[in-house]
Amino acid sequence: MTDDVAPVRSFWEGLGLPGLYDVHVHFLPPNIQRAVYAVFDAAGPKIGREWPIRYRHSHAERVALLRDFGVRRFPTLPYAHKPGVAAYLNGWARDFSADVPEALWSATFFPESEAAAYVADLVAGGVEIFKVHLQVGEFHLDDPLLDEVWGVLQDSGTPVVVHASSGPIGNDFTGPASTERLLRRFPRLCLVLAHMGSPECAEFLGLAERYDRVHLDTTMVFTDFFPPYPPKLVPRLVDLQDKVLLGSDFPTIPYPYAHQLEGLARLDLGDDWLRAVCWGNGARLLGEPVVSPT
Ligand SMILES: [Zn+2]
Repeated sequence: MTDDVAPVRSFWEGLGLPGLYDVHVHFLPPNIQRAVYAVFDAAGPKIGREWPIRYRHSHAERVALLRDFGVRRFPTLPYAHKPGVAAYLNGWARDFSADVPEALWSATFFPESEAAAYVADLVAGGVEIFKVHLQVGEFHLDDPLLDEVWGVLQDSGTPVVVHASSGPIGNDFTGPASTERLLRRFPRLCLVLAHMGSPECAEFLGLAERYDRVHLDTTMVFTDFFPPYPPKLVPRLVDLQDKVLLGSDFPTIPYPYAHQLEGLARLDLGDDWLRAVCWGNGARLLGEPVVSPT
């Protein structure tokens, strides 16, 4: 794995950055992590293809590797696949972020009657970022059980990473429709649309253009592993320089971490664009990075 470090560091050093700000990293409780790995390993129906996980290390080793890469701040992005587990995931994620200074305090929610109360408590406590995953959770963003949750989050401005798009495999709950309906009702929500909305790239890009607080994360897009990003949309990413955020999906990626960065560089949108995407936008949206203990 040490071979993976040097190209990552030379990328941000070459841009004159103090490191990377990655808004799409996962750390899950060991039992849940094992279940997620098993789904990827089996290339199950929600994955659809072989997906060899490159960074299948212990939590301590993964934190050390992110530090070696120079990733100065990252979330843990839990997500629930059924009712009744969000509170457990959220407790674990809170403890993790208390132990690891670079980790953003992350949480999730699920359409369930308790959601409004636990989300309000988390926001009051200072949670920094949420994640929801429609394909895995099999719910619509505008599920009526989430009405109060969205009201709280629109008022607090807490960023929510939303995997709503249909990659890698869609189902009845994926696609832009429920995000569009949600934003019509809650236009000031701070959403980070994962995977640039791929494969519904144009629709999700349009939402980032139309709504002030809607962002996109680069997670796995622009790599050789993902379907090509439509070339005709690339020029519009220049105007969205302040709304595109580096995301990687570490550790569940089938290639070296640096490949995500190469994919961004070969868009050829300039060093200022890369500096905004890989550092400045994350720092502005989610707060200053933390200097790693050495
Ligand atoms: Zn992810």
